[in-house]
Amino acid sequence: MNEHWRNWSGSVTARPVRVQRPATEDEVVDVVVRARDEGVRVKPVGAGHSFSPIAHAPGVQVDLDGLTGVVEADRTRRQVTLRAGTRLHSIPSLLEPFGLAMANLGDIDRQTISGAVSTGTHGTGLAFGGIATQVVGLRLVDGGGTVRTYHEQDPELAGAVVGLGALGVVTELTLQCVDAFDLEAVERPEPLPHVLETFVERCGQEDHLEFYWFPHTDVALTKTNTRRPHGARLRPLTRRQRAVDDDLLANGLYSLTCRLGRRLPRTVPAINRVATSLVGDREFSDRSHRVFTTSRKVRFHETEWAVPLEALPTVQREIAAMIDRLGLRVSFPLEFRAAAADDLWLSTAHGRRSGYVAAHRFVQESPDDYFRAVRDIALAHDGRPHWGKMHDLDHATLAAAYPRMRDFLALRDTLDPDRVFGNDYLARVLAG
Ligand SMILES: Cc1cc2nc3c(=O)[nH]c(=O)nc-3n(C[C@H](O)[C@H](O)[C@H](O)COP(=O)(O)OP(=O)(O)OC[C@H]3O[C@@H](n4cnc5c(N)ncnc54)[C@H](O)[C@@H]3O)c2cc1C
Repeated sequence: MNEHWRNWSGSVTARPVRVQRPATEDEVVDVVVRARDEGVRVKPVGAGHSFSPIAHAPGVQVDLDGLTGVVEADRTRRQVTLRAGTRLHSIPSLLEPFGLAMANLGDIDRQTISGAVSTGTHGTGLAFGGIATQVVGLRLVDGGGTVRTYHEQDPELAGAVVGLGALGVVTELTLQCVDAFDLEAVERPEPLPHVLETFVERCGQEDHLEFYWFPHTDVALTKTNTRRPHGARLRPLTRRQRAVDDDLLANGLYSLTCRLGRRLPRTVPAINRVATSLVGDREFSDRSHRVFTTSRKVRFHETEWAVPLEALPTVQREIAAMIDRLGLRVSFPLEFRAAAADDLWLSTAHGRRSGYVAAHRFVQESPDDYFRAVRDIALAHDGRPHWGKMHDLDHATLAAAYPRMRDFLALRDTLDPDRVFGNDYLARVLAG
């Protein structure tokens, strides 16, 4: 019986022909060559945390849980090479002996480093790019079973990093790290109109700023993180505070509001007003990774769009108007973030500093109407969808949004002319 696979939200399932678990690069080569000879497709899968079917693997699914840990570290250059299956949550302790940390992270740390990088996973902070911008070297096994290495000076590195799993099986990634640092966190409810008016300016002043907005309310829950050199006295959340704030209040409350909201949609606005008054008013400091990431226990569907940063406040206002107009009852908050422009070919922040809007829907509710309406608003502002989150754009629309798309397709033709790593999602977004 084939192993059954499902992604984190349960929206994508697969029954691969077989699952292979290589523990070395040579074994990855064997996996690719054998599948190729058999005419079966190959798909490396990370932690299955993508909402889109990007990791769908009906052929040979490659599980890289055996390919983890540090290959080498250069303390002077602050560069560390990791095996591709390494989970983000194990990286802090791997970097600790070298006094290093990752410069920025997203909301959670369950993903693999290769999965996170391949889809353009990002956090917030206008002086920082997504996780992929930390990559200064990469090794992959291409569709012919050849090992390719890309260094900082190779122009193709900018194409290979956000590779969508379309170019090969990444085996190693070299990260440009920074000296270990701490973060001071301030989380506050603030009037939404004020936050919208000042968001762009504040993004330029703060190291890491984001906000959550519960639909049907006029409150923004802001999170401001300030970087501090490691070593000063910390005021971390105690285990109990974390359990109460994150597990009971945040996750528990979301779970309750989502379940209640599903049964009694009319109660959602009132519940959301209560929710905003209960969460998000605290200050603490801790090691960077402990502040950047939290746990997400309530399962949801998600779509996320990158727009030019200046458009983000307008996008929020248009989404609020759309929710009212369509009479939707949305229990899950939207998340608003920012990132620096970068030059990675398929990065959602390619060539422009970007604002991100992420919309969620409780896993038991259909996201279709809501996400389509968010899509239309984002597209009207030149939006680009997160590759790992739900969207229905086709290649023509995406090609118009990415000036280096042609170069990416040419790189794919070189590395995987026979589409050994293809799947239906890639056929849609890359036209073949
Ligand atoms: C609760 C939750 C919170 C999230 N928070 C954020 C966030 O804050 N910011 C953000 O930007 N995103 C976020 N995401 C999205 C998530 O970071 C991305 O979808 C990411 O790609 C998931 O990593 P993964 O290891 O699960 O990869 P998977 O989803 O398993 O795979 C993603 C892609 O990577 C490819 N891949 C994996 N390993 C390799 C390899 N070795 N070689 C080549 N290709 C490979 C796969 O083939 C696939 O194409 C979140 C997702 C969830 C479920």
